[in-house]
Amino acid sequence: LSFSSCNLPKKLEENLENAGFELPTPIQMQAIPAALLNRNLIISADTGSGKTASFLVPIISRCSNIRLQHLRPCDRIPLAMVLAPTRELCIQLEDQAKVLAKGLPFKTALVVGGVAMASQVHRIQKGIELIVGTPGRLIDLLSKHNIELDEVCIFVLDEVDCILQRGFRDQVMQIFKALSHPQLLMVSATISHEVDKMASFMTKNLTYVLA
Ligand code: AMP
Repeated sequence: LSFSSCNLPKKLEENLENAGFELPTPIQMQAIPAALLNRNLIISADTGSGKTASFLVPIISRCSNIRLQHLRPCDRIPLAMVLAPTRELCIQLEDQAKVLAKGLPFKTALVVGGVAMASQVHRIQKGIELIVGTPGRLIDLLSKHNIELDEVCIFVLDEVDCILQRGFRDQVMQIFKALSHPQLLMVSATISHEVDKMASFMTKNLTYVLA
């Protein structure tokens, strides 16, 4: 399998090539086609295996196709959300998303501590496709501001084992309940009992992707 057989937007293919991603890694080979088919996935992969692009590529592809084909009538309200356990990881995730989405109708907002909340809200209101944030900060923001989340169609929990270890379970569930049945992608180095339990609580159809 190659990236060009995944029917991705041309620009995304070019950006992958420019980033030096010639061939998908084993986890990407499995996760990208399954995610593009709208499956709910648990992706288990170590750091360094290319797990980040395994969910960013389908997100960017699906979201920019929605915009390019004008599949949604209204304003640019968020289409995807990625939660990660730490501010640093969120920053890295947003950076990689920007590199891969260059030249596409795909904008991101970072919702983490240490940045003025007003500027984060302003950015979201100007029109974005993806929110990347930590669960705590996102709950804080959503409780104070009216952010339209009805069109979020992909919800990703990156390093979900770590998110749960940090005690964010209730915040994650609260955010999930504010969404309208999005596709669920959970990424974890280890699949603990807690991860399994939360996943089966959130959805009935799960596909395991292990590499
Ligand atoms: P990750 O596991 O997502 O943290 O990725 C580890 C590193 O591999 C990062 O520096 C990525 O930029 C790089 N990478 C991810 N996918 C590919 C690929 N298909 N080809 C080459 N490098 C990649």
